[in-house]
Amino acid sequence: MRPVNAPHPETWLKVTPSGLYCEPGGFFIDPTRAVDRAVISHGHSDHARPGHRAVLATRETLAIMTARMGEGRAGETQQALPFGEALTINGVRVWLRPAGHVLGSAQVCMEWRGSRAVVSGDYKRQRDPTCAPFEPEPCDVFVTEATFALPVFRHPLPEAEIARLLRSVALFPERTHVVGCYSLGKCQRLIAMLRQAGWEGPVHLHGAHVALCRTYEELGVPLGPLRTATVAKKDDLKGAIVLAPPSAVADRWARRLAEPVVAVASGWMRVRQRAKQGGVELPLVISDHADWDELLATAAEVQAPEIWVTHGREDALIHALSLRGIRGRALHLVGRGEEDEGEEPAAA
Ligand SMILES: [Zn+2]
Repeated sequence: MRPVNAPHPETWLKVTPSGLYCEPGGFFIDPTRAVDRAVISHGHSDHARPGHRAVLATRETLAIMTARMGEGRAGETQQALPFGEALTINGVRVWLRPAGHVLGSAQVCMEWRGSRAVVSGDYKRQRDPTCAPFEPEPCDVFVTEATFALPVFRHPLPEAEIARLLRSVALFPERTHVVGCYSLGKCQRLIAMLRQAGWEGPVHLHGAHVALCRTYEELGVPLGPLRTATVAKKDDLKGAIVLAPPSAVADRWARRLAEPVVAVASGWMRVRQRAKQGGVELPLVISDHADWDELLATAAEVQAPEIWVTHGREDALIHALSLRGIRGRALHLVGRGEEDEGEEPAAA
């Protein structure tokens, strides 16, 4: 695809201690420390860090960063780039395409002198009512994560997992269902899917989840009636669904609820042993990351002869790609997977 005289992306997209750096453009993608110019794929804290001078991202990602970091910490100057629009930075054409991971999540597409690279950030291919679906962009080098890059990881239909949750709620009306989920993305996706499945009553939120739900609603994602869950009024929470951070689900906070049914929504719940170790009674396999089949399907769709893997199970993915005639390269980027499901949770 790349014209014969076009430079290979490895000559202009470099791995540095601060992360991926587009040399001719003079900007970093999801840098791990404060830099002069950053392009940010999405709002999770292992990709979006505070203190950059200039930040380019989708409008939604900028709003999420500001909500989480506070005014002024999410870039001295912010520039929003809508999907489908391109701009040129020092001769590098830059545009964003949806990654389907969380609201505002984008793949960062770059073209320099006829050579094209796409940094996908985190992504998934399953349906998510809270964000635009992933769009494959043909390229010379595709940069991917590999969080769930093992054949054992095949996510079931998320609608079926939500149906399991609702069946359990109907079966145990005296108990409180507390679902562990990350505050950016998974929480709002669960609420939106509960609404689609017909749950019209309030969804109760641990205090840590309230602010970002408000941000999503301000950005045009309706979530329906939400309440702050107060453990002191635990009788009011009988039969309720409470969403809380995974850490709160594991500790005393959840145990003070009325006979809690402990659930966790994560791709890691595919591993039964892990759910059992964490005391999870109702494991829900709902992930915001591509599973094994999605990773391989995406690799085929973007038609890239070479794929760079940022973090995760890179060995398994690179081996599978080589069998398909695709050259793989492990980038070993540091500091990835610190938020959301990116890192395998420690055993309890
Ligand atoms: Zn993420």
